[in-house]
Amino acid sequence: MKRFDPLLFLVALFLGSSCTVYPNPNIGKALHIGDEVLKDYHPMTTLVTEKHLISKAKYPVVDVHTHFGLDQNPEAILGSMDALGVKRVVNLSGGWGEKLNKILQKFKNYAPERFIIMCNIDFSRIDETDFGEKVSAFLEEAHSKGAEGLKIFKSLGLSIKDKSGKIVPVDDPRLDSIWAKAGELGMPVLIHVADPTAFFHPIDRFNERWLQLKRHPSWSFDGNEFPSKDSILKQRNNVLAKHRNTLFIGPHIGSSAEDLKYLSELLDKYSNFYVDISGRVAELGRQPYLARKFFIKYQDRILFGTDRYPGKTVQPRYSIYYRFLETADEYFDYYKHPFPPTGEWKIYGIFLPNKVLRKVYYENSEKIFKYGTVFN
Ligand SMILES: [Zn+2]
Repeated sequence: MKRFDPLLFLVALFLGSSCTVYPNPNIGKALHIGDEVLKDYHPMTTLVTEKHLISKAKYPVVDVHTHFGLDQNPEAILGSMDALGVKRVVNLSGGWGEKLNKILQKFKNYAPERFIIMCNIDFSRIDETDFGEKVSAFLEEAHSKGAEGLKIFKSLGLSIKDKSGKIVPVDDPRLDSIWAKAGELGMPVLIHVADPTAFFHPIDRFNERWLQLKRHPSWSFDGNEFPSKDSILKQRNNVLAKHRNTLFIGPHIGSSAEDLKYLSELLDKYSNFYVDISGRVAELGRQPYLARKFFIKYQDRILFGTDRYPGKTVQPRYSIYYRFLETADEYFDYYKHPFPPTGEWKIYGIFLPNKVLRKVYYENSEKIFKYGTVFN
């Protein structure tokens, strides 16, 4: 850990000067820009708690939210999957065209039972006539080659524009035939829209992810050039309502981990809507009472996902996620990193019953992807 560096401190003050003034910048929490510790303050808890570290899940796991590219070695990933107890992974970064062909060849053909590949859409062609029909034809072809789902990145509704210069809304009618085709083919659509609520708020002293946004200013969607989070979620909900025969997965707890009551209403309303837990154990683990109730009530609709891949050494997540789901451990780190990557807090386990654990770990996704396997 670095010692206090006056130059970096001045840089930090400059970066923060436009929106944040602290009465005494030397008082407060550790301040980081990137990996630089600007102020060496790292409080260590004195609380004595139970620690159940879990390297392999209690039941087989299907990770429905991973990303890896052609630079990865399938054999190495399979080795890490075995070590972590992961039976199947869904790679959401299949792409389209030649890349998709290569990914399918390299991973799907190598171990068809272990790798599920989702394809993506080339939205740069949004202005072409019959865009929706062309993408629908692409989906059919991708499906016949082995792609088992469609992943939509959060740029839809947030930054993708058409030639009019306007942001393409998630419920744009040009996309209707795509959602319908995915339903017809039985391909789940994992649709990431919006982001944590704090990313839509000003980067000021009230923002609970201030440090994170200072490290990654491009993750902020505050300002008039961006639609509000509410409006993006409403557009997504319109799609859920219009395409009841298509199964949608909302990653990151449907982008509503901060408001499980709102999410519960959506799950009650739209039976074609599922959520994955990737990247939101920090949010869920800081509200363990409500999170536990939520998991038990919606045990058939929640899927395990990490937004990592087995073997990834940068900020690995599996053992932390297992600990959160399986144990009643209290006040522990939601990260393996020199500092809290999202918010400055700790989390609590929700000790799910075995029946619920099995559903979240693999039974729900086995149904969705039509494998239907009962693992031993
Ligand atoms: Zn992701």
